[in-house]
Amino acid sequence: MLNEPEAHQEIRDAVRQLCRQFPDEYFRKVDEQRAYPEEFVTALTQAGWMAALIPADYGGSGLSMAEASVIMEEINRCGGNSGACHGQMYVMNAVLRSGTEAQKQKYLPAIARGELRLQSMGVTEPTTGSDTTRLKTMAVKKDGRWVVNGQKVWISRIQHSDMMILLARTTPLAEVSKRSEGLSCFLVDLNLALGHGLTVRPILNMVNHETNELFFDNLEIPEENLLGPEGKGFKVLLDGLNAERTLIAAECIGDGYWFIDRATKYANERVVFNRAIGQNQGVQFPIAEAYIELEAANLMRWKACAKIDAHQNAGAAANMAKHLAAKASWEAANVCLQTHGGFGFACEYDIERKFRETRLYQVAPISTNMIFSYVAEHILGLPKSY
Ligand SMILES: Cc1cc2nc3c(=O)[nH]c(=O)nc-3n(C[C@H](O)[C@H](O)[C@H](O)COP(=O)(O)OP(=O)(O)OC[C@H]3O[C@@H](n4cnc5c(N)ncnc54)[C@H](O)[C@@H]3O)c2cc1C
Repeated sequence: MLNEPEAHQEIRDAVRQLCRQFPDEYFRKVDEQRAYPEEFVTALTQAGWMAALIPADYGGSGLSMAEASVIMEEINRCGGNSGACHGQMYVMNAVLRSGTEAQKQKYLPAIARGELRLQSMGVTEPTTGSDTTRLKTMAVKKDGRWVVNGQKVWISRIQHSDMMILLARTTPLAEVSKRSEGLSCFLVDLNLALGHGLTVRPILNMVNHETNELFFDNLEIPEENLLGPEGKGFKVLLDGLNAERTLIAAECIGDGYWFIDRATKYANERVVFNRAIGQNQGVQFPIAEAYIELEAANLMRWKACAKIDAHQNAGAAANMAKHLAAKASWEAANVCLQTHGGFGFACEYDIERKFRETRLYQVAPISTNMIFSYVAEHILGLPKSY
């Protein structure tokens, strides 16, 4: 983007102002206590930022993807972590794109008002991982209800969500001509499900990210909670993923600028051998290189936003943006840590926290190798490798 539109600048200013109420100390404490940033997420929701992508007809602000991405970028650029709440912005996309009018009327305005949290998406399973279409959780129709049995892993924000979109197999693998067929999406009311067929076990992990194992034991879901056509759940899911990839790319861009700012400031201030460490090319060149790569990744982020906003196929751009941005933010993180020497490891500098947080995005929501496979096969026409 050559010149940033005025609307973007206004969003940046407003989000920055909100984030000022939640300084480094706030996120550090939340991280130390492995707590959920409840006050921060409430403030964002009440200010309407989480309803950015919900059309005005359903009570949202109907912003473009480019505008919504600025919100996420700014949260991370201010030192926060959008991962606690980004699901609330994009998970609803599956309802918007594939839901019936009754489902849209039922859920979207409530999400826009902040009364309903639809933050979770249950896809990954312990025994199949990236091989999504081989997932084993089964939903069987019985007496007008769906009955679910199986297991999921790494399902985020369940404890801070009222609903989840669940992907389960509804036609056995042996009976479909393509593995991507016979999967269906469901809207699961977590408040009803917990303790009645759904058990949740939190996973302690490297980041302060609320994520869980889920066990389904005859969980009953009303028939009307099927989302999109039966058997076409994989497509329902994929349709929403470009938004997820693009918003996460913007978060990584925000992280990257945060690391570059911190590295530059410290390199100018820290004096060793009677001069600022930033005067040494061995210190300044890696910061400059990380900045160049971040700026380049940002161009792909804007391309992905433009494709989504123009309703064009954004699969390639969204995946490439997520890959480039996650790589650039990680390189910036590494350089920032190195620039700070020992102090980079001190929690009070916040660098080790952001370092852990930004590393996640080369694994989730899709790992780097899967993006390479996608580009190799679908863009370059190379043989499918798995
Ligand atoms: C903190 C966190 C939060 C998450 N939140 C969610 C969530 O909310 N919902 C959800 O559904 N999932 C979630 N995930 C899961 C995430 O999407 C998966 O971890 C990710 O897709 C990789 O799957 P896996 O961990 O099973 O790795 P695996 O599939 O076991 O892969 C392990 C490694 O091998 C590589 N690999 C595997 N097969 C190939 C191949 N054929 N060619 C080349 N490389 C290959 C992968 O790229 C990866 O690097 C989350 C994960 C984490 C860590």
